[in-house]
Amino acid sequence: MKKRAIFLDRDGVINKEPVEHDYVKNWGEMKILPEAKKALALIKQSGYLVVVITNQRGVARGLMREEDVHGMHKKLNEKLGGNIDAFYCCFHNVDENCECRKPKPGLVRMAAEELKIDVERSWVVGNSVADMECGLAAGTKVRLVETNGNIFQAVKQIVGDGKKGQRGVKSTRYGTKSVKERSPGK
Ligand SMILES: [Mg+2]
Ligand SMILES: [Zn+2]
Repeated sequence: MKKRAIFLDRDGVINKEPVEHDYVKNWGEMKILPEAKKALALIKQSGYLVVVITNQRGVARGLMREEDVHGMHKKLNEKLGGNIDAFYCCFHNVDENCECRKPKPGLVRMAAEELKIDVERSWVVGNSVADMECGLAAGTKVRLVETNGNIFQAVKQIVGDGKKGQRGVKSTRYGTKSVKERSPGK
């Protein structure tokens, strides 16, 4: 059976988003957000893969190298308890018109194919409209979270809903107003 995954955007979701037009260029600029580690552990315990999908245009702009980003990701995963199964990154610039830069669904599609993920039973969690568009285009469920907030509650709700679904209990609508939830076809 295919696996389920939670695709997480990186900046503003796992680590503090840099100011506009800037990037996390070195480890010193990587500020992990509160309870991100706990949230990732919960995702793994619940049987989902953790896949980070991130646009890092700073590489195309020559502000950092691909190897720098990979190095930071290795360290980031260590700090977060080793629960990240994969990172999928777009290093292109906007005018390169690649298939992987979000809001395009390329990163999710590539991961789904390589890691045998069932997109319909998976989620994209991100802090921007581009993340939501990417997920919807790829056929996942989506959850918008606050920029530089704490994703633990959103994650808890997602994996909780998944468990109820498996047991055949009707899924509950939560009255949370601060988070938006949309599904494909709605
Ligand atoms: Mg972001
Ligand atoms: Zn790309």
